[in-house]
Amino acid sequence: MKPLVLITGASRGIGAATALLAARAGYAVAVNYRANSLAADEVVRQIRAQGGTAMAVQADVTDEAQVLAMFAHIDAKLGRISALVNNAGVVDVACRVEAMSVARLQRQFATNVIGSMVCAREAVLRMSTRHGGAGGAIVNLSSVAATLGSAGQYVDYAASKGAIDTFTVGLAREVADEGIRVNAVRPGVIDTEIHASGGQPERAQQLAAHIPMRRPGSAQEVANTVLFLLSGASSYTTGAIVDVGGGR
Ligand code: NAP
Repeated sequence: MKPLVLITGASRGIGAATALLAARAGYAVAVNYRANSLAADEVVRQIRAQGGTAMAVQADVTDEAQVLAMFAHIDAKLGRISALVNNAGVVDVACRVEAMSVARLQRQFATNVIGSMVCAREAVLRMSTRHGGAGGAIVNLSSVAATLGSAGQYVDYAASKGAIDTFTVGLAREVADEGIRVNAVRPGVIDTEIHASGGQPERAQQLAAHIPMRRPGSAQEVANTVLFLLSGASSYTTGAIVDVGGGR
């Protein structure tokens, strides 16, 4: 039987690249999306076209009831997950802290932090040997913003990713002897649609000169590291936060 991975926010960008790579690596893939069912269906179609197993699963990770329903649906249709990639994440338009509304802050933290923590909670309940599970691996998507702070752009986003780094270390140590490894990937500037969603569609190319490698990374390059951290090739690695930032 194939190992089963749930990837949140897998309808495009880094999540979609990770879903396609995971399928090629032999995982059955639950392709989570929030709103864009057509895009998620296209990822599933591509996986099936290459001989893989995949299913699209809708859930807004900020809504606990939707997350619980998603996990129950996966349990029933695909079986017990052995891997989770907490990839769903949002930025907002660039602004200074004194202009940030509570609604904006709540959306950032509800998606990037609480959404990841609730999905991790449900994954631990299924994977931990403490709960009768067979172990597994969790990879959280952080950002180099967690170390840089993103002044004048989105300090809220950077702070939410700082929380992900701390959560990764804490959860990793909490479940280390229960068969679960927990790691994070910190992408730098990656060429995806997230920049357009923050009102800066050209951001990845514009920042190229400020990146030591002088280019943005690709979703595929991040997916490669996520797959390494999911795989047995990283069997003694937990609580690690791996930068994929071209030196940034
Ligand atoms: P993206 O292209 O904007 O894609 C984001 C994905 O997350 C979409 O599939 C979106 O689905 C989904 N999503 C958003 N809110 C959601 C929610 N509440 N519930 C479920 N799914 C939700 O982003 P990306 O660039 O691939 O980034 C992926 C991850 O890497 C994020 O955590 C991001 O913070 C992190 N990261 C990205 C970069 C970068 O430069 N791109 C750098 C550092 C870190 P819908 O379209 O249906 O909303």
